[in-house]
Amino acid sequence: MNLFWHGRDLRVPDNRGLHLAARDDGVVPVYVYDTDRLASFGTRQRAFLMRGVRRLKEAYRERGGDLLVRAGDTVDVLADLVAEFDASAVYYNEDYTPARRNRQHRVERRLDAESVTDLTLVDPASLDERYENHSRFYDDWQRQRKGPPLPAPDADALVDVDDGKTPPVPDVDAELPEAGYRAAREHYDRFLDEGIWSYNDTRDDLPAAVDRPTLAVSRLSPYLASGMVGIREVWRDATEAYEAATGRERKNVDKYRYELSWREQNYHLLYHNPRLHVENYTSFPNEIAWRDGDAADADFEAWTRGETGYPLVDAGMRQLDREGYVHNRPRQVVASFLTKHLLIDWRRGARYFTKQLVDHDTASNYGNWQWVASTGTDSVDVRIFDPVSQTAKYDDGAAFVKQYVPELRDVAADDVVDWPNHSDHRREELAPDYPHPIVGRNEGYERAQRVFEEALGKR
Ligand SMILES: Cc1cc2nc3c(=O)[nH]c(=O)nc-3n(C[C@H](O)[C@H](O)[C@H](O)COP(=O)(O)OP(=O)(O)OC[C@H]3O[C@@H](n4cnc5c(N)ncnc54)[C@H](O)[C@@H]3O)c2cc1C
Repeated sequence: MNLFWHGRDLRVPDNRGLHLAARDDGVVPVYVYDTDRLASFGTRQRAFLMRGVRRLKEAYRERGGDLLVRAGDTVDVLADLVAEFDASAVYYNEDYTPARRNRQHRVERRLDAESVTDLTLVDPASLDERYENHSRFYDDWQRQRKGPPLPAPDADALVDVDDGKTPPVPDVDAELPEAGYRAAREHYDRFLDEGIWSYNDTRDDLPAAVDRPTLAVSRLSPYLASGMVGIREVWRDATEAYEAATGRERKNVDKYRYELSWREQNYHLLYHNPRLHVENYTSFPNEIAWRDGDAADADFEAWTRGETGYPLVDAGMRQLDREGYVHNRPRQVVASFLTKHLLIDWRRGARYFTKQLVDHDTASNYGNWQWVASTGTDSVDVRIFDPVSQTAKYDDGAAFVKQYVPELRDVAADDVVDWPNHSDHRREELAPDYPHPIVGRNEGYERAQRVFEEALGKR
């Protein structure tokens, strides 16, 4: 028999490593609860993952097996289990985060191990090492074959074990989505019925995100980041919808599949650049003059609290605080504001997101922070999102802002959009409890432009 070592793949169906482990032998699945590793995630994501482990255990029990849950150093735990069950090999799905890779190497050195690509539709190793931009990556990636989902192992492949242990679930201060494969499936099925057909039209529509938060966009990210649903399954269903659609609906559905290619590119980046979370991807001839010191610290704190005096930035940061999730549009705006208008190092913002997001994913978080900070794969040299025009374009009725920033609920939408342009006196008349901007709109923009051009050697 074989052991199957679960990681960020908290599901039974469409699990390539598990499928392989059970193909011609019995399998015992195991989840190793490693407190050092879990300490690097935020409490909310840890709670979501641990609830997912409980659901996974239930899923195995319904099939007549069980999930072994063990605490301790991963390699020691696996070695003990190999001895206890006289297992032939340890199977697992490859992960690309530096810490997990390290553990994978240690497992490989000590035990007979078999690993497989499961996290992505296309194996990052099968593509070129570096692409100039996302379009080049996409052209190559979309030509590659994407395999079908794999069925769950037969019940008789699951070794009859019984294990009373479950992992502890920490208390959390946010409402989390229901965890597990079944919840992921129900969530995605509803989006496939009612959301995907208009996805391209609604993906940037912030009022729609307030009215229909799980249909305007899919909000599948917590499930994908924890592997509670398999990517081949998600791709197959989106592709079936695409094939069934015509005209405008077809374009809408296709955009959903396209967005998944960003996820794939971020894994590809992390695979080839294991220091993506700490080093600029792009090299600059001169150092970027990030701000630090007391004034920068105070600005960073105001940003985390959602008190920058930029309504869309503050709404995004308060959504993060409340839900452990931020819609992609404000996610870009808050990250740009921190790295450009406030000139604070992207690593600081990304680390804060790591602790707050329920959908935190090392590849997508650090890849996107670098993209927004202009240190990553963006083909534009210096991209700066203007928070005022972003609000005018995507939330002109201020529905999203008002949902998260109660101090502005009684202010007319035009005044919300223009908040940073008003005089102090006017702002105090409109909403005395909401802050003034912590940096001038033009001052922040021009300072960022200058600092990045200096770093690029253009000034
Ligand atoms: C600064 C910053 C940090 C981010 N950090 C994360 C993160 O930690 N985890 C994470 O999953 N996404 C991250 N993203 C990407 C994106 O914001 C989220 O994937 C998306 O908002 C999730 O919502 P959704 O599931 O409704 O997305 P949908 O619009 O429904 O898209 C469907 C799926 O496509 C993938 N996807 C879409 N856009 C992107 C993208 N730009 N990059 C990678 N995958 C994408 C996601 O898996 C997403 O669930 C980040 C973006 C920014 C700008």
